Amino acid sequence: MKSTTVLTPCPNYIGGDWLTVSDVATTPVHNPSTGDIIAETPMCTPQHVEAAVNAAHAAYPGWWETPPTERARIFFKFKMLLEENFEALAQMVTREHGKTLVESRGDVRRGIEMVEFACGIPSLLMGDILENVARGIDCDAMRQPLGVCVGITPFNFPAMVPLWMYPVALVCGNTFVLKPSEKVPLTAIRIAELLEQSGLPKGVLNIVHGGRDCVDALLKHPKVKAISFVGSTPVAKQIFEIGTKHGKRVQSNGGAKNYILLMPDADVENSVRGVTEAAFGCAGERCMAGSTAIVVGDAAKTVLPTLAEVTRKIQVGPTDRSPQPHMGPVITKQHRDRVCELVDAGIKEGAKVLADGRNVKVDSAPNGFFVGATLLDEVQSSMTVMREEIFGPVLSVMRMDDLNQAIEVANRSAFGNGASIFTRSGKAAREFKHRVKAGMVGINIGVPASMPWFPFNGWDDSFFGDLHMQGKEGVQFFTQLKVTTSRWFSYGEGDIWHREGNR
Ligand code: NAD
Repeated sequence: MKSTTVLTPCPNYIGGDWLTVSDVATTPVHNPSTGDIIAETPMCTPQHVEAAVNAAHAAYPGWWETPPTERARIFFKFKMLLEENFEALAQMVTREHGKTLVESRGDVRRGIEMVEFACGIPSLLMGDILENVARGIDCDAMRQPLGVCVGITPFNFPAMVPLWMYPVALVCGNTFVLKPSEKVPLTAIRIAELLEQSGLPKGVLNIVHGGRDCVDALLKHPKVKAISFVGSTPVAKQIFEIGTKHGKRVQSNGGAKNYILLMPDADVENSVRGVTEAAFGCAGERCMAGSTAIVVGDAAKTVLPTLAEVTRKIQVGPTDRSPQPHMGPVITKQHRDRVCELVDAGIKEGAKVLADGRNVKVDSAPNGFFVGATLLDEVQSSMTVMREEIFGPVLSVMRMDDLNQAIEVANRSAFGNGASIFTRSGKAAREFKHRVKAGMVGINIGVPASMPWFPFNGWDDSFFGDLHMQGKEGVQFFTQLKVTTSRWFSYGEGDIWHREGNR
């Protein structure tokens, strides 16, 4: 049943105040397991953006002067509060996103690891020095913050993706405006409350909710120095183009279509587990989802039958209660319909269905946005399902004769986020790693997602920009180098070095 309660729109967080926005249109936030509306997101205007950016700009001088050790101490406290609220946060992710509790715990855990990384900022910010670049002249390079930075995030990792961005930006000395996904604003708000409780000064982090109008105003605002974006490829490209045109530093992560190669010698149990987790984990709503399995040679006989059998057994259901299903719903009814339409198109274009999740019935939650795990076989590169990012629980299977052919097919993709291989052969794995055109490579790993210490390294249409998020590149993105060359002349006083005996 749909909720009939009138919901107060989610508040903006500006200059340390939680502000209800009443005079704008709103977007409903659903519990995808039930279809109920659980919150409303205000679609803010350029005026709200102006207030948020001005608050961040006003807080910047004081925050920049705060020593990195003091900034880090706030994030140590933040990490503690995140741990204390870990389970509640995971439940919140499940409620507004629909992923299973285990998956939500992973979402929160990966986010906390970014905070842990950010706590090391005094070491990460240290510069370089070379004494005597010429006689009596020294040269040093140090990192300084940029100013007001902006983060625009997608729906699929409500905790982790915002935490890829602002912990690092803030410990580097920047201030920040976050524009969370309008589909999942609640976790972002709760996490910001915890950061506020950790002692973050007012205005250092700000949140403004909305869609395109809001984003456009952020991209063009003269006081904004850098934009960090994660979302679909068409929007990522547009963000990069508009942001850079307006003189901003931009890192823009886009969508993906990730290939998993199953070699004839692959361990059946481990590779089927790896592929099904990659394809159907988080209902396929991951930029690192393994959406295409290429079965090479006899893998069609050794691995594919088990893959089909395991896929058919995946139970889909509501995640906001016990017992937990294997897989939850997708984010909205519209998205469920789109995923099913893409599967229809695939079948019309010649794919064979080995598991069909289009008409799945979930009696315990009849209004949830469910699609069952779907397996399409004999898929060709020319089909719609291969050209579009489906972002749902659909695994396409292509059949190839050998490793060379499989790598060539994978390399034809316009995307370049991730690619994996399952094999017992070190030689095949090395060949794959060397030649495949993707920035994140898995060897006997289904989802080679990045850890905080390494960059999230998309290539081609999966990333627009230069410096990636996370790892040292993340610190470089949110700072600028200042190189100083210095010489000190002697005015006679205390020039002990040139006195007799000191040479
Ligand atoms: P999306 O592109 O629809 O939205 C992302 C953000 O951009 C949201 O905050 C949204 O409000 C805003 N937005 C949407 N349309 C806009 C427009 N026309 N102009 C300006 N802003 C706009 O993405 P989504 O559906 O929320 O998330 C799923 C996508 O994100 C998938 O394509 C997935 O692959 C990708 N993703 C990529 C990564 C990565 O690291 N490469 C990680 C997670 C998700």
